[in-house]
Amino acid sequence: MRPHDAPHDLDHLFRRVSPRVGRILDQALADRAITPAQAETLFHAQGLDLLALLAVADELRRRAVGEVVTYVVTRNINFTNVCYIGCRFCAFGKPARSPEAYTLSLDDIAARAREAVAWGATEVCLQGGLNPHQPPSIYEDIVHTIKAAAPELHIHAFSPFEIWWGSRRLGISEETFLRRLKDAGLGSIPGTAAEILVPEIRQRLTRNKLSRDDWVRIVTTAHRVGLPSTATIMYGHIDGPAHWAAHLDLLRRIQAETGGFTEFVPLGFIHENTRLYREDGARPGPTGMEDLKMHAVARLMLQHHIANIQVSWVKLGYKMAQMALQAGANDFGGTLFEESISRAAGETQGTHTTPETFRRLIRDLGRVPQERDTLYRAVQRTPDAPPAPQLWQPPLVRQAATGVGEGLRVRPAPA
Ligand code: SF4
Repeated sequence: MRPHDAPHDLDHLFRRVSPRVGRILDQALADRAITPAQAETLFHAQGLDLLALLAVADELRRRAVGEVVTYVVTRNINFTNVCYIGCRFCAFGKPARSPEAYTLSLDDIAARAREAVAWGATEVCLQGGLNPHQPPSIYEDIVHTIKAAAPELHIHAFSPFEIWWGSRRLGISEETFLRRLKDAGLGSIPGTAAEILVPEIRQRLTRNKLSRDDWVRIVTTAHRVGLPSTATIMYGHIDGPAHWAAHLDLLRRIQAETGGFTEFVPLGFIHENTRLYREDGARPGPTGMEDLKMHAVARLMLQHHIANIQVSWVKLGYKMAQMALQAGANDFGGTLFEESISRAAGETQGTHTTPETFRRLIRDLGRVPQERDTLYRAVQRTPDAPPAPQLWQPPLVRQAATGVGEGLRVRPAPA
């Protein structure tokens, strides 16, 4: 069997693909949407079926975005790890009295934003725990602080869970809250806190504190008020192919309605330090083959809806990220500078990547590196613009007082 329109050098492979998988691949190559049931079939692909799936995803990537692989120079600022929720999969959030708890002051956030500009960042990405010791105005305070310190930065901040929490603390609707944040200077929101958008799974991950419907309502409201978002999935724990297919189908339907997703980011579960793994019997994250299938099936499911599929080098490591870029993905994500959420869960892939490293890894694949901004517009650096940093220097350990509760510590800088 030879799927429709496939490149001729794949003929030999496609002749040996199983009829069931071949029909689905044929359908995708003919620009016809695949169903959730068909996506589930693809998640079970093995052997030559799997190789054919990866080849078709790579072909659809080439048709959608060509040979360019993008990356963004961004700085992560995880402004507090104090969190009262206690999600079972999370090792980042801490009780306020934990010796590891920290909360950054607004002055410290401003200093980090200014540092980001000096390093050539176009974006700061902010997420934190749901910290009841911070004032209800904290999210707007943060946006105002960054805009005052570094007005040129795009502020990509606050997950749907933080929007849910912030609006309730202020006693205003989510829409009003999002509009106020946008007026203050927020540019977009991360589509995290999605985990798996299937209620029976969410019940076990977070006791459904942010339900699927809450997540969908907040994300679609953000899109409606003019705040784009990313779309994510966290996979490889107590979930499986049927849940992944349902999740991708829901994202596809949202995108058809709002057009507000800038990219899809598969996030494999980092298990080591989580209660979900240690106490609840979750799997130790996805297998390498599942990582590749997730990027590939997403490319097939989301074709003509979400053009950009990002690899998370923090979760995958550089080598697996390069593989995923050959399996449907086209974006390397961000430099980050201070990744701390995956690190808390036990990941050891590093806390930053320089633009130079991204470019080398992309050229290794025979592809074309291109810096982008948050909204996937190409960034061209002029001679007098701040250079993209070649060598990252960790920030100094800061001693700023947090002023939000006993037992809090300012986090030491990453080693
Ligand atoms: S995932 Fe977010 S909301 Fe859940 S415990 Fe961690 S920091 Fe808190």
